[in-house]
Amino acid sequence: MTDRKTELAANLAKVEERITAACAAAGRRREEVTLIVVTKTYPASDVRILSELGVRHVAENRDQDAAPKAAACADLPLKWHFVGQLQTNKVRSVVGYADVVQSVDRSRLVGALSKEAVRAGREVGCLIQVALDADASGRGERGGVAPGGIEELADLVAGAPGLRIDGLMTVAPLAGEYAGRERAAFERLMDLSTDLRRAHPAATMVSAGMSADLEQAVAAGATHVRVGTAVLGVRPRLG
Ligand SMILES: *Cc1c(COP(=O)(O)O)cnc(C)c1O
Repeated sequence: MTDRKTELAANLAKVEERITAACAAAGRRREEVTLIVVTKTYPASDVRILSELGVRHVAENRDQDAAPKAAACADLPLKWHFVGQLQTNKVRSVVGYADVVQSVDRSRLVGALSKEAVRAGREVGCLIQVALDADASGRGERGGVAPGGIEELADLVAGAPGLRIDGLMTVAPLAGEYAGRERAAFERLMDLSTDLRRAHPAATMVSAGMSADLEQAVAAGATHVRVGTAVLGVRPRLG
């Protein structure tokens, strides 16, 4: 094995151990939680190694980086998740490789995604990104819609050609009532997911938890954790 492959294998094993322990502590089966490795800022060669090591879900947050990487890895059996704030002028490109867009947070984006998904003949899964720190405008610091806006957006996605409503995503807030209370934030997301599934029973995905707080997310009931740093290392730049 190359040095990098040895390093990534060791990091993956540690993350796997953490997820397994968190599942055991929560009385959940390991298969209930899917690991998504966030490969942002890291090269396509790392994505290839991760695929060789058995990773099947990767995530990116910037189309400029993601599009060439996804193209370079098109031969690999990977599902690509888009987790960044998404401008409508990037939607055509993102729909070209993303299986799931986790950051749906406004109606204009739903319209653009639907149009491009139909054009490309693809079905794109959508998660509504929930901002638990939403301000008076109803939007979060790092994207996302306030809890009160979920239902309308989910209905819009469900009725949009080429799109599928898969569930909810959040990032633990740094400000507001949930700052420093990751477990409480993720439990709130689970409650919102329960509400969502009344109208959309197939929207079962709950994407929460990153390198620092995946245990809290698994404890709260997350179905998907998004882990970057703990697998790939500290990112060279903000991403
Ligand atoms: C970067 C990122 C992650 C991964 O964060 P780490 O702390 O590196 O594990 C997860 N979710 C989103 C939306 C991200 O942008």
